[in-house]
Amino acid sequence: MSKTVTTTNPYTNKKIKSYDYFSEQTIADILKQADDRFHQWKTVKLSKKARLLNKVADHLWEHRNKYAKLITTEMGKPITESQAEIEKCILLCAFYAKNAENLLADELIKTEAQESFISYDPLGVILGIMPWNYPFWQAFRFALPTLTAGNTAILKHASNVTGCALVIQDIFEEAGYPKGCFTTVLANHDTIENLLKNDIIKAVSLTGSEAAGRKIAEIAGSQLKKLVLELGGNNACVVLNDANLDKHLDTMVNARMQNAGQSCIAAKRFIVESGIYDAFIEKFTGKIKTIKHGDPLLDTTQISTLAKADFADTLEDQIIRSVKMGAKVHFGNQRNGAYYQPTIITEVTADMPIFKEETFGPVAAVIKADNQESAYEMVSDSSFGLGTMVFTENIKKAKKNIIHIEDGAFFINEMVKSDPRLPFGGTKNSGYGRELSKEGLLAFTNKKTVYIK
Ligand code: NAP
Repeated sequence: MSKTVTTTNPYTNKKIKSYDYFSEQTIADILKQADDRFHQWKTVKLSKKARLLNKVADHLWEHRNKYAKLITTEMGKPITESQAEIEKCILLCAFYAKNAENLLADELIKTEAQESFISYDPLGVILGIMPWNYPFWQAFRFALPTLTAGNTAILKHASNVTGCALVIQDIFEEAGYPKGCFTTVLANHDTIENLLKNDIIKAVSLTGSEAAGRKIAEIAGSQLKKLVLELGGNNACVVLNDANLDKHLDTMVNARMQNAGQSCIAAKRFIVESGIYDAFIEKFTGKIKTIKHGDPLLDTTQISTLAKADFADTLEDQIIRSVKMGAKVHFGNQRNGAYYQPTIITEVTADMPIFKEETFGPVAAVIKADNQESAYEMVSDSSFGLGTMVFTENIKKAKKNIIHIEDGAFFINEMVKSDPRLPFGGTKNSGYGRELSKEGLLAFTNKKTVYIK
């Protein structure tokens, strides 16, 4: 088992840096420090926690260009998207700074008691295991509500974004969070699995693949520890005959191509009603042809490389297997190392890999639906359940399908996206639990009943 981790720039394929994994003793010290800190941090007033959130926001803003460059260098997303990611973290700080006190206030419930209420108490030290696709956003989405609710946090970040992982700890400390509130751990899977079994860790939040979810859930289950799982997705984008293509085409393209398609909530299956199919294919292809690819550090680049060449291998394999079953490459499908050209695959059917499996790259699978009913049926024909989007001018009719959508989100005339004010999470193999909003703040709390006769 390797004792070091090396980061590589996926665009230049050059090594960035090697880091040693932490020793057993260092990890034991980090755990103790996080636990000791928890007993003090949980009593810190929310007004002070809000001030710290604002300091994190100020710090992120001041250093946004430096951090955006680090994200782009480590995982290859275009610099403008990295900048937007930092700005979204700032919005999240602002949301909890403004609302946490209200959202965490005791909730009075009238009973025969003199006084009865729910007290939202923190749980202790929470482990966050996070992915590389939004290296700052995913870590902050876990950490900000977890810390604000009074817990302390330990981060195990994806190894290819180790530079980001370490800098995020510095950001919290420079903003004034006491040592031990937020700590990054560099360790291999075995060490993290053991860490999860340690009594000091009270719960775990994992954002990542279904395979990682199953493994971590097994351990958390055997330890009876609370778990939030944000896993993969295979979102459908339904385009009905009455959709306004001119108005929403950019959104549809962005829903698939942002972050080079490496987003759990990206539109992966385009289910298009037959009456609009030809117009959709023509306009969608026209737009996709204009996407500018190149060096991710240039402001003009809209798509660059995937985060690792392995991911391009997986995509290529999913397409080869689907083409063997009758799918057609309508546009694109060229690759070079970790770069994968924006690609459109048509004549896709429900039994093909690119319909059934998550495609984590810029590949749109297009399926023709005879009518609305069969379109909505195909939406639910998935083992995943993160979100569905539908484009239609008949909002009243689309709303009748809310009850039939089995996912964690249903967006009409908009791409599925996260928003600090709204809960975020999935169903089925996309996981369980919710992040962001009030739900995220309460995820790692003990909802304690207090009763005073
Ligand atoms: P991944 O391979 O599952 O890795 C995610 C994180 O889990 C990394 O930090 C990884 O560490 C760690 N990990 C994996 N197995 C582990 C184990 N047995 N013990 C301890 N740690 C373990 O996923 P990924 O390739 O980074 O991310 C892509 C996946 O994440 C996609 O399926 C995507 O849809 C999903 N995702 C979901 C959401 C959501 O909100 N639902 C958001 C973003 C991404 P190493 O890097 O060291 O392997």
